[in-house]
Amino acid sequence: EQDKRESLYLVSEFASKYFQNILHNTDQGKAIGLSYFKERGFTLETIKKFDLGYSLDQWSGFTDEALKKGYKLEFLEATGLTIVKESKRFDRFKGRVLFPIQSMSGRVLGFGGRILTNDKKAAKYLNSPESDLYHKSKVLYGIYNAKQSIAKEDNCYLVEGYTDVIQFYQTGIKNVVSSSGTALTSDQIRLINRLTKNITVLFDGDAAGMRASLRGIDLILEQGMNVKVCTFPEGEDPDSFAKSNTLEELTKYLEDNAQDFIQFKASVLYEGAKNDPIKKAETIRDIVNSIAKIPDRIKTEIYIQECARIMDISEEVLFSTLAQITNKDQ
Ligand code: ATP
Ligand code: MN
Ligand code: MN
Ligand code: MN
Repeated sequence: EQDKRESLYLVSEFASKYFQNILHNTDQGKAIGLSYFKERGFTLETIKKFDLGYSLDQWSGFTDEALKKGYKLEFLEATGLTIVKESKRFDRFKGRVLFPIQSMSGRVLGFGGRILTNDKKAAKYLNSPESDLYHKSKVLYGIYNAKQSIAKEDNCYLVEGYTDVIQFYQTGIKNVVSSSGTALTSDQIRLINRLTKNITVLFDGDAAGMRASLRGIDLILEQGMNVKVCTFPEGEDPDSFAKSNTLEELTKYLEDNAQDFIQFKASVLYEGAKNDPIKKAETIRDIVNSIAKIPDRIKTEIYIQECARIMDISEEVLFSTLAQITNKDQ
């Protein structure tokens, strides 16, 4: 079993090196893959730091080479790098630029691959399938490059996508990881919890990003961690925003716009509906539900006070609502 995992690691590491070599040292790799990354504003240094690669638009160029080098088809298939159909072999990531996904200790677990065309029929991103190595709900893209800065800054920025991580890193904010499009999970938060108690959620400036931020909050609070949320202007994501701003501007934007979860919930759930008593009641209940997730009594009390102040309601009624919620949960 341990041997099999090690074999999967070796195949994955070979693949990552192979795709990097294609990107940097072949005509097509340079003309298609490398220029794509450069157009996105990534420098060569950044491209190398994240081990980005390219898989040629060929049916089985990678698989053929891996087999020639002695890697077993069984393991190529188990990592999902090769798809076997009616005894034919296909490269899973054909024609995509690749983002290797590394473990906390820097080993390659899987890949995310992006198409270069705007073909609406094909999935924009394709990830490795679940395997003995890669469990998408348990990995955070960028954690290997970010871990030292997360500990040093005592904060972790959490973004949606691969390119958000990379653009932030390049701009100079290195304590950043991504849940890679999957809804944030407790296992992912636990990885961060080993490095810091503070998470700032930076999801895309669209309805999906807003929903994802709201969902993430309770999971973070449950683990006794502190959560802030910073939203981006409509249509922007951390990648596009960082690309068009300097480090100073980005830092200032984050400082000025990060809200604690109560302010955030109050602003998205209630701001647009001022003076609507039903909306107000729903917002308060929603916030108290989140406060109920916090294990620490002192923090609970402080947040109740803040909620009372922001929503202009008495602490007594909030505490009794909180008590009702906690009793129901037990
Ligand atoms: P880009 O800037 O390259 O267009 P993005 O990261 O801004 O990509 P989003 O559409 O905001 O892309 O999605 C966020 C993340 O969700 C992506 O980085 C990727 O990890 C994941 N994702 C997006 N589309 C898909 C898909 N079709 N299948 C699987 N994962 C996806
Ligand atoms: Mn999005
Ligand atoms: Mn995005
Ligand atoms: Mn984007």
